[in-house]
Amino acid sequence: MIYLIDSLHLKKTHITAVAMIETGVDELTLIDCGPETVFDSVVTAIRNLGFRPEHVRHLLLTHVHLDHAGGAWKWAHQFGTRIYLHPKGLPHLADPSVLIASATRIYGTRMDALWGKVGATPRGQLVPVDDGAELHLGKETFQVVYTPGHAEHHNAYWLPSENAIFAGDIAGVALDEGPVIPPLPPPDIHLEKWKASLDKIRQLNPGCIYITHFGLLKRSLIALDELQERLDCWAEWIKPRLENLDLENEFETLVKGDLQNAGLGPAAIRAYEQANPLFMSVAGLTRYWRKKIG
Ligand SMILES: [Zn+2]
Repeated sequence: MIYLIDSLHLKKTHITAVAMIETGVDELTLIDCGPETVFDSVVTAIRNLGFRPEHVRHLLLTHVHLDHAGGAWKWAHQFGTRIYLHPKGLPHLADPSVLIASATRIYGTRMDALWGKVGATPRGQLVPVDDGAELHLGKETFQVVYTPGHAEHHNAYWLPSENAIFAGDIAGVALDEGPVIPPLPPPDIHLEKWKASLDKIRQLNPGCIYITHFGLLKRSLIALDELQERLDCWAEWIKPRLENLDLENEFETLVKGDLQNAGLGPAAIRAYEQANPLFMSVAGLTRYWRKKIG
């Protein structure tokens, strides 16, 4: 059984999810944990479900972006949880200085309020896991699906017993059954790799796709096609505009128009902006095109 925990990031509901599976007796597995600022609310949610947070033995991270993994070190310290992630992401948890520096460039003085403290995780509790690896955790077996495109070190986790895949950010952001949109932060955005990753997920033909923002992706495989369409559309829109001085505002107008056309009101659009800040997508796509076309 899969439990979906709302981490209540910034006290908002339905923005950032943590998935939990009871993989054995006194053995829980989380997929992504959110930033340090939600550690206490996730612990409380686990207790409210009738479980004990000290039984969280395993934490599978899709990638190290702070909204997914910022609090991982705290699980390691407080409960001895083992943290599984792609080898390319592992050094950033062992020594988070690069992660902190690059996030500070983006978020500046809002770092603390958004993400809290980002500590180091002891190396001995970090487990590198790459494409195709089978993780036998208690009675469950997860398969690692390397899925770059959003981040170079992004893994998804396939759980055949539930016909479910935990897709982090590679299957997009879709809040409250709204449209699915791609989160495109710098520095790793790569369209071709992203599409190849979506193909990998399609081949598994999962019945359920879980995304961090937020929860179960409705119409799962159709939603992947919609995501891919938006990915292409936004990228092609930005390509001839890289030099525009007001690109952030222009892009915001484009995306908000897109979301309005999909029937969203102002509050729902604000929630999408919290889950997926639009200025970051401008930076991510601009970087992608500059690398590609110079
Ligand atoms: Zn991310």
